[in-house]
Amino acid sequence: MWDFETDPEYQELLDWADAFVRDEVEPLDLIWPHLQFTPLTETRRKVVDPLKERVRQKGLWATHLGPDLGGQGYGQLKLGLLNEILGRSSWAPIVFGCQAPDTGNAEIIAHYGTPEQKERYLRPLLDGELFSSYSMTEPQGGADPTQFTTRAVRDGDDWVINGWKFFSSNANTAAFLIVMVVTNPDVSPYQGMSMFLLPTDTPGVNIVRNVGLHGESENEGSHALIHYENVRVPDSALLGGEGQAFVIAQTRLGGGRIHHAMRTIGVAQKAIDMMCERVLSRETAGSLLADKQTVQGYIADSYAQIKQFRLFVLYTAWEIDKYNDYKKVRKDIATAKVVMPTVLHDIAWRAMQVHGALGVSNEMPFLGMVTGAAALGLADGPTEVHKTTVAKQVLRDYKASDDVWPSEWLPRKRDAARARFAEYLELEVGNL
Ligand SMILES: Cc1cc2nc3c(=O)[nH]c(=O)nc-3n(C[C@H](O)[C@H](O)[C@H](O)COP(=O)(O)OP(=O)(O)OC[C@H]3O[C@@H](n4cnc5c(N)ncnc54)[C@H](O)[C@@H]3O)c2cc1C
Repeated sequence: MWDFETDPEYQELLDWADAFVRDEVEPLDLIWPHLQFTPLTETRRKVVDPLKERVRQKGLWATHLGPDLGGQGYGQLKLGLLNEILGRSSWAPIVFGCQAPDTGNAEIIAHYGTPEQKERYLRPLLDGELFSSYSMTEPQGGADPTQFTTRAVRDGDDWVINGWKFFSSNANTAAFLIVMVVTNPDVSPYQGMSMFLLPTDTPGVNIVRNVGLHGESENEGSHALIHYENVRVPDSALLGGEGQAFVIAQTRLGGGRIHHAMRTIGVAQKAIDMMCERVLSRETAGSLLADKQTVQGYIADSYAQIKQFRLFVLYTAWEIDKYNDYKKVRKDIATAKVVMPTVLHDIAWRAMQVHGALGVSNEMPFLGMVTGAAALGLADGPTEVHKTTVAKQVLRDYKASDDVWPSEWLPRKRDAARARFAEYLELEVGNL
């Protein structure tokens, strides 16, 4: 059965969320633009906590989680529909308890954490009371984790961690880190790396720089360069088993990637909304921008891109719900990851262009969207690497031709067709 409709009950909730985000949450983006991942001060708490409470009352808090973890267990498809709305605003995922990278981090603690780890880290994370950081990329290489050198060495009942990590998002405000390190250099990296959970204030965790994205002041960004210097953690800090890091990373990144794609739909739709308003408002050379053929092309191309992307992302979310196995849906998650930066880039760029000088100014949000699109092509792995994944998965369904000619080589197929219908062909010839 095919069905492209949202059930009316959930649609009502989505309509509520849409109005709530526009009216109540988007203003936070303007007054506290970079403070989403900073623990709440008393003043901010007075504004943000009541908003979170209203989300909870509607049953929309942390909808990515099952009821055992305090969510509704709505699944990825419903989360996708909600995330399209939340993508409009940088504060909205926080207010709805489903912000990256905490969602992915919560997911792996829920999957692999011990009861003590869940109590200490997961519970407050899900309550929205603290933030977390995932510390995997290293200065000398991110796309290829087999290059990682940060090392944990056993010392009695403890482990001692030494090395450097780069672009650990939100580390400067996070209460704890999940760090991926080499624990056994003598086996393949796929078996020799492990993950540790540790409080950010553990002695030896040195945040050397807070790298920012374009437009942010130097050293005031949210992506940390961290020097782990003789960081001592107990054996109980190990997340999952020793050597399990790659398996855990795949669980984390599968969900994270599709959630980014869902929110990207929201950002791109916002750009389309702005583009359409502008072209209907601005007249030049005797007619509205909306009447110019090239501009109409911008709108049609943008509509086509977002429509295809949205359907694909929702379909992929539906597949995840159906199979409950990220690995099985790997090809489509990677495809969504590949397409996402281009969709956002193209749409934001066109929307910016039709706004003229105002578009590139810091009085409109377009350049932030374009930078965001570039970041989406890197965060959680570069586009090129995901294309390789897609291609390998696609090729699994094919095999090489049995001989030098392709299986669709027409002369051979024609001969086979002639042989099959030989008696009729002879009759045709006889009747001439
Ligand atoms: C906004 C943002 C947030 C991030 N947050 C985090 C975080 O919280 N934690 C964390 O650990 N990391 C984080 N990262 C880092 C991210 O995971 C890495 O940037 C990414 O994995 C690429 O690694 P790299 O930057 O070292 O680039 P490299 O590995 O040096 O790759 C550079 C380029 O080389 C090309 N390339 C690489 N490999 C291949 C290949 N196999 N085939 C073809 N071309 C290739 C691609 O063009 C690629 O962009 C974040 C990055 C961004 C931009």
